[in-house]
Amino acid sequence: MNKITIAIDGFSSTGKSTVAKQLAKHLGYIYVDSGAMYRAVTWFAMQNNFIDESHFHTQALTSKLSSIAISFKFNPELGFSEVYLNGINVEKDIRTLEVSSFVSQVAKVSEVRKQLVKQQHELGKNKGIVMDGRDIGTVVFPDAELKIFMTASAETRANRRYQELLSKGEDVSFKDVLHNVQERDFIDSNRKDSPLKKADDAIEIDNSNLSLDEQFNKILQLVETKLKENN
Ligand code: C5P
Repeated sequence: MNKITIAIDGFSSTGKSTVAKQLAKHLGYIYVDSGAMYRAVTWFAMQNNFIDESHFHTQALTSKLSSIAISFKFNPELGFSEVYLNGINVEKDIRTLEVSSFVSQVAKVSEVRKQLVKQQHELGKNKGIVMDGRDIGTVVFPDAELKIFMTASAETRANRRYQELLSKGEDVSFKDVLHNVQERDFIDSNRKDSPLKKADDAIEIDNSNLSLDEQFNKILQLVETKLKENN
């Protein structure tokens, strides 16, 4: 059976990665969390003191881009691939609210995007991939057979992210998480290079009132239709 490319874009904390992982597992496809790649570069910038609350040395970061190697390694216990930065597992480090507070600044930088998009193309060259992010259907894989654009209200999304961070033991307030979600949406949607927007041929799914099962089944139906068209 011919494999297809599935692009899932949308605002922060819309549950893209949850459904993308479910689909990849069900189809036996590769799953790539492109946000994790931007988060890993941000973590690198933080570790090297290129970014903090008061400054961002963009040039210092771009001059070091060639020394950043990002890779994914499947963890069979977790059932998904974890992110490695220069050979070190940074999966936990990159998910904090602190990284979230800087990542959209880093993701605005064209040199960073260019480097990561190149790697994303490589990962998807044989199809059979589910990739989620902000520009997957518009820039990374404009020819993807299936494009999904996920939305939900900012409060719903912030609440999901808040619960997730609490369950990981992070000491955060709902107000700060909501502020971060709204701020990232604004920066991601308004940046010059590859802004977050729905591709013309993407199917929009508002999952504010959908259970995880309902959402998965709805998207799986769309996948099955596309697979039939492609075989
Ligand atoms: O998906 P996640 O929320 O982990 O993404 C973190 C950030 O990475 C986003 O807020 C956005 O700034 C950036 N990003 C991007 N392009 C992508 C994926 C993520 O700019 N394809």
